[in-house]
Amino acid sequence: MKAAVLEGLNELVVKEVPTPAVEDDEVLVKVAACAVCGSDIRMLHHGSPRLTPPAIMGHEAAGVVVEAGKHVTKFKPGDRVAMGGDVPCGECVFCEAGIGNNCQINYALGYQFPGSFAEYVKLNRTVVNYGPVHKVPDHVSLEEAALAEPLGCVLNALELSPVKFGDAVVIIGAGPIGLMIIEIARKMGAGKIIVVQRSRPRLEMARKFPADVFVCSSEEDAIARVKAETHGLGADVIITACPSPDAQVDAIQMAKNRAWVNFFGGLPKDKSQVTLDTNIIHYRELFVCGSHGCMPRHHQKAVDLIADGVIDVKQFISHRFPLDRAPEAFAAAEDRAGLRVIVAP
Ligand SMILES: [Zn+2]
Ligand SMILES: [Zn+2]
Repeated sequence: MKAAVLEGLNELVVKEVPTPAVEDDEVLVKVAACAVCGSDIRMLHHGSPRLTPPAIMGHEAAGVVVEAGKHVTKFKPGDRVAMGGDVPCGECVFCEAGIGNNCQINYALGYQFPGSFAEYVKLNRTVVNYGPVHKVPDHVSLEEAALAEPLGCVLNALELSPVKFGDAVVIIGAGPIGLMIIEIARKMGAGKIIVVQRSRPRLEMARKFPADVFVCSSEEDAIARVKAETHGLGADVIITACPSPDAQVDAIQMAKNRAWVNFFGGLPKDKSQVTLDTNIIHYRELFVCGSHGCMPRHHQKAVDLIADGVIDVKQFISHRFPLDRAPEAFAAAEDRAGLRVIVAP
């Protein structure tokens, strides 16, 4: 089969590799769509302890089951499935507690397990038993189904830092994830939604999403603006959806007393030491949390929200490339000119 193989840092090569053979408790899926995630780009340039080249990345995917081992009861050939990233091991203390994205082994498709920038992806026993793989109804395209993964991650984030009816919400970072947060926060009943973004062209692109205030932080003082928009008090929920240490510092400043601040966007390894004024956290009694990835139940809920027409994920797709042009797909995603970029094998 053809696959985009990460052969080393900055080396993504489309080549022929053996099609995986499936055992009795495994499943083979023919990939129809796999979106490029920010974490894929990070791994292309900086690697990851969870992935050893040569490796196949890709964890926001969907396809059709073409083979199921004889012991597999959950799936059969012909099933259309969405596939997420984080795979609970099913056995550690966190998986037992139902927070498999905090699994101590931390398996994921497109990391330790080969991913979906390939014609076929094998789902091993752990993925089949515990992983984020869910059936997709016929009326949902597989390209939309691929976006159940990032949508699931947004659902996890908003579960940890919940938006209540009428809340003022700030989202820092208007990438595809930030824009998904706008959509969901609106549906959760947010009052005023303020989106903060450094680059003007990216901010302009965000205007078609249902936020109320669009702040270009390279042109105006975003903290002052958030205060001005919230009676001088700050916002109830602030979510950083970008890999920026400054965004985290600003988020604390933008918080109203008893607000939730969620550091959703991870930082590059060498930039994760951040100086915060913790007296603000102390005196305003802030709830500062993080969130990353999601659990299979969030992935299932995301599939349902897409299937039921609650969230239109088509609007988050800006580019499509065939597998042969996977390196170009990565470049397009990195360019930040668009939203999610789909690779279709
Ligand atoms: Zn992702
Ligand atoms: Zn586990």
